[in-house]
Amino acid sequence: FFLTLEGLDGSGKTTQARLLAQFLEEKGIKVRLTREPGGGLPGVRDLLLKGEALSPEAEYLLFSADRAEHVRKVILPALEEGFWVISDRYLDSSLAYQGYGQGLPLPWLKEVAKEATLGLKPHLTFLLDLPPEEALKRVSAPDRLERMGLPFFQRVRQGYLKLAAAEPERFRVLDATRPVEEVQAAIQSGILPL
Ligand code: C5P
Ligand code: MG
Repeated sequence: FFLTLEGLDGSGKTTQARLLAQFLEEKGIKVRLTREPGGGLPGVRDLLLKGEALSPEAEYLLFSADRAEHVRKVILPALEEGFWVISDRYLDSSLAYQGYGQGLPLPWLKEVAKEATLGLKPHLTFLLDLPPEEALKRVSAPDRLERMGLPFFQRVRQGYLKLAAAEPERFRVLDATRPVEEVQAAIQSGILPL
């Protein structure tokens, strides 16, 4: 199975992904925990987060290059070996941040993504939903993208919610303001049917 965690910065994706991996491993499931950006081309992370401001188009293509490698070199091989793959962010991040947040046309993003991802979609996606005010409060060391401010984060959050509403069978929307253990319990009950 291919599971992804999505949500604003500070929503707790990384923590929840780790706890979920631990939970599954204790059940004897082989787990490959991975993340974007940087899961495919590690250098892309610094380039995107610490480098000069790039055009949104260039940014999206870099995220896509990383994702193309991530899918081919990490995710698909692990799935073929029988691992469950948990990715901390995936394509929905780009649709939310570069699409709804930065205003790039969704049809173009999806067109590029078709080739970049080879059509690989998560079986299940947990959206850790958080009000942007809360997200900004939680982010302690803001990088370039996090400095984009409240209206940007509002668009991203609404974008995520639209993506979730469009594919209710894939998405589980969770209230990320709740305590870590409660969110984790909700995630665990979300995967029980798998
Ligand atoms: O989740 P993580 O903190 O690793 O993400 C790194 C940064 O990249 C975040 O600030 C996030 O806002 C940004 N990002 C982005 N577009 C994506 C993925 C991540 O702007 N497609
Ligand atoms: Mg961050």
